[in-house]
Amino acid sequence: EPSASVTTVTDAWLRCTARAIHERRLWLTDLDAAIGDGDHGINLDRGFSAVLGDLETGAIPTDGVAELMTSAGRRLLGLVGGASGALYGRALMTAGTRLAERAGDEEISRRTLVEIALAGAIDGITALGRAVPGDKTMLDALSPALAALRAAPPDAPERDAMLAMAEAAEAGATATIPLVARKGRASYLGERSAGHLDPGAASSAILIRCLADAVIASDGQSMPPRMPSAQP
Ligand code: ADP
Ligand code: MG
Repeated sequence: EPSASVTTVTDAWLRCTARAIHERRLWLTDLDAAIGDGDHGINLDRGFSAVLGDLETGAIPTDGVAELMTSAGRRLLGLVGGASGALYGRALMTAGTRLAERAGDEEISRRTLVEIALAGAIDGITALGRAVPGDKTMLDALSPALAALRAAPPDAPERDAMLAMAEAAEAGATATIPLVARKGRASYLGERSAGHLDPGAASSAILIRCLADAVIASDGQSMPPRMPSAQP
C-alpha cells in the first residue's frame, strides 16, 4: 500500500544518511573549521546516529511517513544544534507533512513524491533561514537538485531522474567554493569565505545522494507497480 512504501523508502534514506554522514563526519567538520566553527560533521553525526538508533530499537514510529519524518526532524533539532540542526530539523518536518498529504494517492509517481519532499524541505529551510540560492548555504545543493528533477523528461527512467538529481546536488555544492557567504557563521568572514566548499551544501549533497540511492534500491520491491491495478 503506497503510504507504507513511502515510509519504507524514508526509513532506507535515513539509514543511508546516518552511515554516510558518519563516514564523512571529519571531512564535514574540517570544511566547517575553515569558514565556521568546526562542528558541522560531528553535530550531524550525533543527530543522525540517534535517528539510526531510534530506527533500530523501534523507538521511532515507522507506520506513517509524517510521524517518521517528524520524529527524525525533532531528533535533529534536539541533538544537532547550531544553525543546521534547526534547519535540517525543520526541513524533515515540513517534507514529512507534505508527503503525508499525498502518500495515500495511488496515482502519484515515486518521482513526484521525491519532488514534493524536496520542495517541502527547501520551503522549511527558507522559512526559517531566509537564504536564497547563491548565499553559499545548503540551498545551493538542494535547489539545483530539485531543478534537475523537474527538468528530467517526464518519461525518463526513474533511475536517470534520481541520478540527475544527485549529480546536480553535488555540482551545486562544488559551485559554492567561489561564493561569498551571505548567511550563517561563514558570512562573518565576508570575502574570506570565498575559496571554500560550504559545509552545509556538502552535507546536503550527501543527503540527496542517499535519497537517490534509497529510491533506486527500492525499485520494484516495496513500491506499487506504476500501472493501472485492473488487469485485462
Ligand atoms: P553553525 O554555523 O551554527 O555552527 P553548522 O556548522 O551545523 O551550524 O552548519 C553550518 C551550515 O548551515 C552552513 O554551511 C550553511 O550551509 C548552513 N546555513 C547557515 N545559515 C543558513 C541559513 N540562514 N539558511 C540556510 N542554510 C544556512
Ligand atoms: Mg558550525
